[in-house]
Amino acid sequence: ASKQKGGNCFTYFTPRMQEQAERRMQLSHDLHMAINGQQFFLEYQPVVNLQTNAVLKAEALIRWQHPDKGVIPPMEFICIAEDTLLIVPIGEWVFKSAIEQCRQWRTSLNPDFQVAINKSPVQFAAEYKRQHDWLKEILHGSSERNMVVVEITERLLLDANTQVSERLAKYQQAGVQVALDDFGTGYSALSYLKKFPIDYVKIDRSFVGELGTSTEDEALCRAIIMMAHSLGMQVIAEGIENQRQLEILRDMGCDFGQGFYFSRPLRPDDFAAWVQQWQQQAISVGARG
Ligand code: C2E
Ligand code: MG
Ligand code: MG
Ligand code: MG
Repeated sequence: ASKQKGGNCFTYFTPRMQEQAERRMQLSHDLHMAINGQQFFLEYQPVVNLQTNAVLKAEALIRWQHPDKGVIPPMEFICIAEDTLLIVPIGEWVFKSAIEQCRQWRTSLNPDFQVAINKSPVQFAAEYKRQHDWLKEILHGSSERNMVVVEITERLLLDANTQVSERLAKYQQAGVQVALDDFGTGYSALSYLKKFPIDYVKIDRSFVGELGTSTEDEALCRAIIMMAHSLGMQVIAEGIENQRQLEILRDMGCDFGQGFYFSRPLRPDDFAAWVQQWQQQAISVGARG
């Protein structure tokens, strides 16, 4: 893979390069129509509290229902949206839709329900100044404190001008929590984290995948959890795909987990049904034990 000049998109140089370049151009063109055409939708993946089994969080993940190419995953179009700055209105749509959904779930599922949204570095940079007032406008006061978690990546911290830290602090002041996504894939030392106001560290799924087979990854996860806890942060493990990984993480004191072992990302109705079933299961297991 190689980074294309002037763009944020990764391109794979294969014999089908021409074809791929054409697809990208087509998508870039179609993306302008996608918002007004209401072609985006969100799926939600449950985030499970590994110590209590409660599900009070979901991560919102965007998908694009292209009129004739089917469902397009974010990895394929977020970078295009960044290059054209369409990421800004798309990001606002994600934010508003996820909040709307979360309000419903606070009524129907649990009053403390939280939703996490992803923010790319380009998006973060483009939203300079506006974000704080905008957040205050959209969130309904103190009852909606800690309703939203913004997920940023390590890449953003490394770009760091000092403003990143101030701006993250502003999120927190506005009642929005901050999670550091894909942790471990960048180059920052764990101790570097203490400079930033961060509520959650998300261990990248590449370290979770080998748990149970790789003692190095086990040591790494343990170190991340210990360090994060000593800095007052909670830990979310991504990409849990089997019982063994879950048990290792739980024993290490990892706070939260998400992954296909629990559930794939789901449409809102399926998500609500999943949570209800999950709760019932937890009750019957508890009653038996
Ligand atoms: P991410 O934030 O790290 O999200 C986790 C990705 O891992 C999701 O892929 C999810 O479907 C996938 N995943 C979850 N559990 C498992 C598992 O057990 N095994 C495996 N193999 N994968 C799992 P998805 O939905 O394709 O999203 C990819 C990336 O696109 C996200 O990575 C995030 O960086 C970005 N993205 C998604 N939605 C948005 C958005 O609304 N805005 C922005 N800026 N980026 C987004
Ligand atoms: Mg994420
Ligand atoms: Mg992630
Ligand atoms: Mg990841």
